[in-house]
Amino acid sequence: MVGGGISGLAAAYALASGPNPPRITVLEASPRLGGKLAGAELEGIPVDLGAESVLARRPEAVDLIRAVGLDDDLVHPATTSAGLWIGDRIRAIPPTVMGVPTDAAATVDVLGEEAAEQVAHEPELPEPALTDDVAIGRFVADRMGPAVTNRLIDPLLGGVYAGRAEEISLAAAVPELFAKLRTAPSLLAATAELREIGQRRNTPGTPVFAGIRGGVNRLITALEEDLTRRGVEIRRSATVRRISRNHAGYELETGPAPAPQLVQADAVIVAVPASPASRMLAELVPAASTELATVEYASMAIVTLAVRKKDWPAAATGSGFLVPSVEGRTIKASTYSHAKWQWSAEAGGDLAVLRCSVGRLGEEYVLQRSDEELAALAAADLRTAVGLEAPVVGSLVTRWGGGLPQYAVGHLERVDRVEAAVGEQAGLAVCGAAYRGVGIAACVASAGKAATRVQTHLDALATMAK
Ligand SMILES: Cc1cc2nc3c(=O)[nH]c(=O)nc-3n(C[C@H](O)[C@H](O)[C@H](O)COP(=O)(O)OP(=O)(O)OC[C@H]3O[C@@H](n4cnc5c(N)ncnc54)[C@H](O)[C@@H]3O)c2cc1C
Repeated sequence: MVGGGISGLAAAYALASGPNPPRITVLEASPRLGGKLAGAELEGIPVDLGAESVLARRPEAVDLIRAVGLDDDLVHPATTSAGLWIGDRIRAIPPTVMGVPTDAAATVDVLGEEAAEQVAHEPELPEPALTDDVAIGRFVADRMGPAVTNRLIDPLLGGVYAGRAEEISLAAAVPELFAKLRTAPSLLAATAELREIGQRRNTPGTPVFAGIRGGVNRLITALEEDLTRRGVEIRRSATVRRISRNHAGYELETGPAPAPQLVQADAVIVAVPASPASRMLAELVPAASTELATVEYASMAIVTLAVRKKDWPAAATGSGFLVPSVEGRTIKASTYSHAKWQWSAEAGGDLAVLRCSVGRLGEEYVLQRSDEELAALAAADLRTAVGLEAPVVGSLVTRWGGGLPQYAVGHLERVDRVEAAVGEQAGLAVCGAAYRGVGIAACVASAGKAATRVQTHLDALATMAK
């Protein structure tokens, strides 16, 4: 297993907990496991520094949390109602499918009368009849007007990828909308139908998101303990530079470049971001390597702040707010962790924890500021947005260089080509955020598929050996 983020550890778990567990070694480049899941304490309060929730609408992440013994600590947000910071106040987010409105009349407060009117007239345009992938932001701007892309898709969907809404693949980012747009009479009709389906599916009491008491990063510690108990070897500070084939299977080159160590394996799962995957597969699967080299990544930072609860403005309600890039603020989103997660409020005592995200694709210059500057800028934005006047008690800045892969137009076809090329090597598989979903649940799903592929190969080898 190459990579000890959630994808690599989930793939290791799928293999190790299966009926014929192979001998597994996880090779992780950094001294720390978890990749984009990481935790720390701020003023004695546990905080997530990277991912902080999982999608509960699909089963993979929640099932894994339960499987590794965190069932009792599985929690759901106390509130998920976020607002949009536009102009001088936080406004309610109208109903949308990942930022694409479902009801024109409901967009007036966020878009203004004229832009909302354009949304209402969208069904008068020729039918979308989509066959090929498009950039969601451009497609929606052409049909509903640029304000929808700038003020809704940018914060709601662009925020997930820290990317530019104009460039993101509709087919990869919102596949159910892409599918509907083949036959739907209009974009508005498609989103309205999807919302209705969503409402029917979301039976009351079935939460969309889940977390873990103390932070979702605890999933990594629990996985490590479980895997170690099952005899999985985990090697930290073990960067894999090259994977090649030899008579006995695969050979992985790790260790210091002047004195490389070679690890022999019957099968390999590559669960690292696209650029290291591209490098290590360059000789073995050049076609996949070339495709992976083109996947861009956005860098961002999470600024975590602690303030006194007594100073928290009463008007700042809900779980936080998102900020459209066109508003020109430093922060792109703020989550009131103490309001969203009951466990955070309890652990905080008289302190409240807030998370602000900063930086987007093409905004790397923002991250060149010092930690102190970023924390001060985030606090200043919060002062303007919600009237938080009191000084912050503590702060932590976590930089995520190359944090999120960008799904450009044609991403899914690219992933098909990568998987086809990798598939020609028996016992080799790839998984992770670079492929079919950046969220933890999607990563766990991709890990499960990679594990199945590799296990099938190992079973075949075992049969041949008999
Ligand atoms: C700030 C932030 C917030 C997020 N919030 C959420 C959220 O709330 N909910 C959600 O569902 N998703 C969230 N995401 C997305 C999600 O966390 C990630 O997409 C996911 O964790 C990626 O997991 P991964 O294992 O595929 O990759 P990674 O986490 O990148 O792990 C890959 C691992 O491979 C290692 N590696 C790299 N190169 C090599 C090499 N050559 N040899 C060996 N090892 C190597 C790395 O050190 C790393 O540990 C967030 C992402 C970020 C950046």
